[in-house]
Amino acid sequence: MTKINDKTLLHLLKEQLKKKRNLEKENTQLLKEVKKLNQKLLESESFKSHFISNVTNEIINPFSSVKGLAERIIHLKAGEMKKAHSLAKLIYSESAFLDFQLMNIFMAAHLETGEVKMEISEFDIPHLINEIIEYLKPEINKKKIAIETYYYPSLSMGDKLLFKTDREKLRFILVNLVSNAIKFSNDGSLVTIHIKTEGDNLEIKVQDEGIGISKENLNEIFDRFKRIDKKIHSLNSGNGLGLSIVDGLVNLMNGKIYIESEKGKGSIFTVVIPPATNSELLSDEDGLFVDDEEEKF
Ligand code: ADP
Repeated sequence: MTKINDKTLLHLLKEQLKKKRNLEKENTQLLKEVKKLNQKLLESESFKSHFISNVTNEIINPFSSVKGLAERIIHLKAGEMKKAHSLAKLIYSESAFLDFQLMNIFMAAHLETGEVKMEISEFDIPHLINEIIEYLKPEINKKKIAIETYYYPSLSMGDKLLFKTDREKLRFILVNLVSNAIKFSNDGSLVTIHIKTEGDNLEIKVQDEGIGISKENLNEIFDRFKRIDKKIHSLNSGNGLGLSIVDGLVNLMNGKIYIESEKGKGSIFTVVIPPATNSELLSDEDGLFVDDEEEKF
């Protein structure tokens, strides 16, 4: 048996002690992380139950309205065309809202399972922007929001601005951003859309003069189910899915999203999208090419 002298023994003991301390440190660190994860899990559970109750309201309420309004049309007397027209307008507005909610829920589910593919086409940006404004007309009219659109370099009436990417995904991104800009603005305020070609890239800014977002909340708004102000949200529809979808789609398109915002002053959401590359076009084995101007929603 080898003899261990005092010096070596002391050295070994010191090493053991060091190891023990490191293990203790690791344990404390692990415990902290487990606590953090547990907290996140609890938050996500509470977000999910909020989400389920929000979604339930947002699907059931407009459905009941549509049903009720249609029933009123059925019982109208002959010659009450004007009344029928205004009830039909209300049905249109409720179904547009329902359509938007359902599209977001399905897109979130597809993103979650990684099933979303790029479907490339070359299309006219002003045509898409006008289509989005038209789609959001019920919300715009309800809140008497003024929408202004600017192109850089400027375009004359009827000029085209062709860009190659996934039209439906870009539409999803912009519908969510413009809808939020309207939702978080006071009645009668201004929402501006700035469209710029920057090198080969397309840059779109959606600017509002609404409630804004504080610095500490800026990092959280892209989290799924996250909604910042409960008081404001009781007045506004939504499920906290929109920006997480926007973020997922911008990533899929190799783009970037930036936010400038000040509480009480308004927000600017900027999306920068590169044109789809030839390799993205060639990888489209499933024949997913979409004709210009094809309606997707
Ligand atoms: P939702 O709009 O359904 O609540 P989103 O994911 O689209 O969900 O947005 C998450 C949260 O980010 C919103 O609930 C709101 O608190 C904040 N937010 C998003 N856009 C704006 C905006 N333009 N102005 C102020 N707050 C915003």
